[in-house]
Amino acid sequence: MRTPFMCANWKLHKDVDEAVEMAKKFKELVADVDDVEAGICAPAVDLYPLNEVLADTDIKLGSENMYHKESGAYTGELSPQMIKSVGCEYAIIGHSERREIFGEDDALLNLKLKAAFENDIKPILCIGEKLEEREADEHFARVKFQLEADLSGIEAEDAKDMVLAYEPLWAIGTGESATPEQAEEMVKYIRDTVAEMYDQDTADAIRIQYGGSVKPWNVEEIMEQPNIDGALVGSASLEAESFSKIVKFK
Ligand code: PEP
Repeated sequence: MRTPFMCANWKLHKDVDEAVEMAKKFKELVADVDDVEAGICAPAVDLYPLNEVLADTDIKLGSENMYHKESGAYTGELSPQMIKSVGCEYAIIGHSERREIFGEDDALLNLKLKAAFENDIKPILCIGEKLEEREADEHFARVKFQLEADLSGIEAEDAKDMVLAYEPLWAIGTGESATPEQAEEMVKYIRDTVAEMYDQDTADAIRIQYGGSVKPWNVEEIMEQPNIDGALVGSASLEAESFSKIVKFK
């Protein structure tokens, strides 16, 4: 059985005071949840104080990005060791905003994934198609390409521990979620592709989230889909009440 994983992605939101205030409220609201894993991926400056606030909980902490080098002349970057030192168990790798706005390509993402595994950071790898790719019926090919390129050279033992997030670009931040059927169709395809690339055990173990306008009012039908193991949540994760409702989706 795969434990559902609901993870916040705060993006470029919340200074330290706001982050601490939200985390304090949120941990109270989800204190009684024990069958769903909850996580918060936050801006770098928030990680140290969040680690302190969340220390007495099972809520996981993650970074929104990570560089693959341990140290050196890479101004503005964060190493796997640095994010680990502030309590991060997870790191989002390859969010579509990193791919589109900051030009991160699949070769770089592959290096980041390898560095994450070498340092015991669990990556949340985001994959997904643009609207024009879906309209041209190229969405399955796009996602398969990303999986093969990003996971190239990565062993099954590592892949099993990672999280995949299917995030169609047309559903992120638009308020227009994929239908539960569209999300399930692609997430099943991703699981089948992982089985082809590795084996059925790996495909059965890996958790696959859906992300794209997940809200308290649509999370339940998304989570009813057999292959969807959780959600990566942007805007609805910024408020403690709405994110706690998503974590308590049942
Ligand atoms: C995201 O950025 O990963 C995301 C899913 O955002 P939203 O929930 O706002 O669509």
